Amino acid sequence: MPIRIKEIEAKHVLSESKLPDADYVVNPYTGCEFGCAYCYASFMGRFVNEAIDDWGNYVYVKKNAVSVFEKDLARMGPRERTKSIFFSSVTDPYQGVEAKYKLTRGILEVLARNNYPGEVGILTKSSMITRDIDVLHKIAKPDLGMTVTTTDDNLSRFLEVRASATSARLQTLKKLTDEGFRTFAFVGPLLPHFRYEPELLDGLFGSIVGSGVKEVYVEHMNLNNYIRKRLLDYLKRTRPKVSAIYEEAATDEHRKELDKIVGELLKKHGLKLRLMEVIRHNEWMKKG
Ligand code: SF4
Repeated sequence: MPIRIKEIEAKHVLSESKLPDADYVVNPYTGCEFGCAYCYASFMGRFVNEAIDDWGNYVYVKKNAVSVFEKDLARMGPRERTKSIFFSSVTDPYQGVEAKYKLTRGILEVLARNNYPGEVGILTKSSMITRDIDVLHKIAKPDLGMTVTTTDDNLSRFLEVRASATSARLQTLKKLTDEGFRTFAFVGPLLPHFRYEPELLDGLFGSIVGSGVKEVYVEHMNLNNYIRKRLLDYLKRTRPKVSAIYEEAATDEHRKELDKIVGELLKKHGLKLRLMEVIRHNEWMKKG
């Protein structure tokens, strides 16, 4: 099914963050064509009259995002300007439409031009981030990450439908690290089968270390009702045999088992765990 692209005007693209490790977030798009089966941002459809089940099939492009961001930035006082900005909390800043619209790039150029002193974090599942290495080198404190949930390209294609294959993401991390950027990997959601096949998580952490990355976020699968429904409907339609193990992923017992495995493997690979523990989404979101 072709992705529906719609251009819209936004009032703001910079907003206060509810994420634990960011002060502000920037979302140049509403919707995400990568369409990950486990995406928690599918609730965003309600702001543009789209059904949760249609997540991945549409992108609303905030075509004035760069000029709006420039105004948002101008309104920030000197204290706010030291705070961290994160791309993106409910979309991927380097999904396919970014090749044409260059909104993420445009906003990064504004930050570079204004010598923004705070940290600028980016998390993506796309190798397109390397297009902007030139401008990223002009940012004072970039912190660049890729989500990697598996080393298996077939599995990443199945769960993270239109994102770059996981092997390409690991190569991208290597390139960014070799360029001298501070980098991280986001291992989230922790896929439930790692509990029974820890050697696969061992392999994933090994590949992350191989890409030169030294720090990771790790997050348990978020199975809020609307996510659970979309994910399980997809699994039951396509891989009915694995749906039970995904249902189990929300239990405390499952998470504690995985916590133990993660702890041992982090130590084995010498990886630093950001936020000091495996993220449980609902508990980590800032109140507000
Ligand atoms: S890349 Fe991120 S925002 Fe996009 S569908 Fe996947 S999880 Fe959601």
